[in-house]
Amino acid sequence: MLRLPKFRLEEPLSTYAALALLAENESAMVVAGGTDLLPNMKHGLFEPELVVSLQRIEALRGIEVTPEGELSIGPMTPLADVAASAEVQQHAPALAQAVSLVAGPQLRIQGTLGGNVMLDTRCQWYNQTHFWRQALGYCLKKDVTVCHVVVGGQECETAASNDCAPAVMSVVARLVFERLNAPEEVPIEERWASDWIWN
Ligand SMILES: Cc1cc2nc3c(=O)[nH]c(=O)nc-3n(C[C@H](O)[C@H](O)[C@H](O)COP(=O)(O)OP(=O)(O)OC[C@H]3O[C@@H](n4cnc5c(N)ncnc54)[C@H](O)[C@@H]3O)c2cc1C
Repeated sequence: MLRLPKFRLEEPLSTYAALALLAENESAMVVAGGTDLLPNMKHGLFEPELVVSLQRIEALRGIEVTPEGELSIGPMTPLADVAASAEVQQHAPALAQAVSLVAGPQLRIQGTLGGNVMLDTRCQWYNQTHFWRQALGYCLKKDVTVCHVVVGGQECETAASNDCAPAVMSVVARLVFERLNAPEEVPIEERWASDWIWN
């Protein structure tokens, strides 16, 4: 049985408190529904000392149409709510359809749209147990500099597997990242670029 490593869990009630916690520890990571992060931690792909859960931050949840007529979706909105939303079905039907096809009902209740957008990449050399990766000499994305897929490759070219990605790109969405000083907007085309890393 794969076990989670030890880590400290914090459950702040506000975005500001979450950002302050994240600033405390370089290895800190956020967890939303945990359907991707926790298996990855069990595989030793991520080793955060501090995990900051966003579950108790109500402000990050919900769907609304702004006075400007734009659809605004909080990152902690469960996939099931996005798929069932009349606003999403009306303003971004492709997104509603894409989200409704993610995994099965249980995962759509637990998994969030933010987690889907920020989902880690997939590769048969990377998404494996530590035992398996160690036996193969690890890979470029974690622990060594060798890519087993692109010989001599210097950048990780693993696949994005988030089903919402094409739909989110097609509606030219803007991602808003909260920061301690001021929020930062990221054009959607920068999110799924090669080996995209955002700190
Ligand atoms: C059995 C199974 C089947 C799956 N099938 C599919 C599928 O068919 N299609 C598909 O698209 N995906 C699939 N997934 C992948 C994925 O788990 C889900 O798509 C889900 O949306 C992830 O959301 P989460 O809230 O659980 O993310 P988490 O696991 O909590 O987080 C995922 C990543 O995003 C980061 N993150 C989360 N929220 C934020 C935020 N607000 N701001 C910044 N970073 C954040 C986390 O730090 C982590 O790195 C599957 C997963 C499993 C286990």
